[in-house]
Amino acid sequence: MSSPDVGALEERYILEALRSGWIAPLGPDVDGFETDMAERIGRKHAVALSSGTAALHLALLARGVGPGDLVLTSTMTFAATANAIVYSGAEPYFIDCLPETGNMDPALLSESLQELEQTGARVAAIMPVDLLGKAVDYRTIQVLAGEAGIPVIADAAESLGASYMGRPTGSWGDDAVFSFNGNKVMTTSGGGMLMTDDEAVASKVRYLATQARQPTLHYEHTEIGFNYRLSNLLAALGRAQLSRLDDMIERRRQIREHYRELFAAVPGVEIFGGANDAEDNCWLTSVVVNESEAGWSAKQLSEALGDVNVETRPLWKPMHLQPVFQQHRRRVNGSSDRLFESGLTLPSGSAMKEQEMSRVVQAIERFLTARMN
Ligand SMILES: *Cc1c(COP(=O)(O)O)cnc(C)c1O
Repeated sequence: MSSPDVGALEERYILEALRSGWIAPLGPDVDGFETDMAERIGRKHAVALSSGTAALHLALLARGVGPGDLVLTSTMTFAATANAIVYSGAEPYFIDCLPETGNMDPALLSESLQELEQTGARVAAIMPVDLLGKAVDYRTIQVLAGEAGIPVIADAAESLGASYMGRPTGSWGDDAVFSFNGNKVMTTSGGGMLMTDDEAVASKVRYLATQARQPTLHYEHTEIGFNYRLSNLLAALGRAQLSRLDDMIERRRQIREHYRELFAAVPGVEIFGGANDAEDNCWLTSVVVNESEAGWSAKQLSEALGDVNVETRPLWKPMHLQPVFQQHRRRVNGSSDRLFESGLTLPSGSAMKEQEMSRVVQAIERFLTARMN
């Protein structure tokens, strides 16, 4: 559905890093990758880490979030967002989404903040998610966070290369996190990055990521740390990928356009995220199927494609429906439940070749033709 897009350039960068002798989780490629990312995104600091999840975890710790705190987050996300909140000792509070984008509904956020303030709950941070590479409504969310006096830690894991009001995602929020997992727009095979303008947050995250080691020659520790730094070899892979990021996003955009054309005249089917995707990175393209209008369901399309070996997947199952997060509080209105029922993500990877794309398109056309007759 979205497999890694790597080739000769990546091979060369990794080989060079290997031959340089910098194999440890520190080295010139880690520094260079951080500098390249900070420049591209427009942040003062970037800290390369072993995963996006690790970056979310340490961002929360660096902001002092811990036991007894609530973190308001999107219910429509991948479990990593909520997992990181639980690692910090805080409790996630799930907020439902706008039906068009799946992104956190600012009106529900506002209601939650008001209600929680009245009950005296300790809300320590807001963690919105840029779903499938479309930025959340940062302007409204940041105003609400500002009024409440709490930080926004943006989970931009899916949105590298996207922008909002002309400014890159990752530059919005007090801190933001990217993921370089194998299925994202670019990959280090596994990795992540914390982006911030706050010097204290950046150095706290660096310190916590290297076992909270004090600056002494012997190993001195005054608190619990983590082993979360990115290796120099993987940072080299990241630098190669970053140099190709715009091309890879362009390819994903073409793929989205293919699907848009394919479904344009099909009743009851919308490309998820709406018509306005100029600022999105088009990480994944999904369709939302209104079964009563279309005469078929997302599940039926998924099964038909599965029969000819084309991988598809439903949209994220909302966190408030996950058995492991059942006990946590939420403000939900059915929007994410409906998206989970009616959404289907189609093959979207930039490594997909023209003939593979044609095969997917033909399989969908066959399905549609069979339904229309
Ligand atoms: C991929 C992803 C993460 C986690 O990133 P990893 O690098 O896989 O740890 C976090 N949040 C969201 C929304 C993601 O899609």
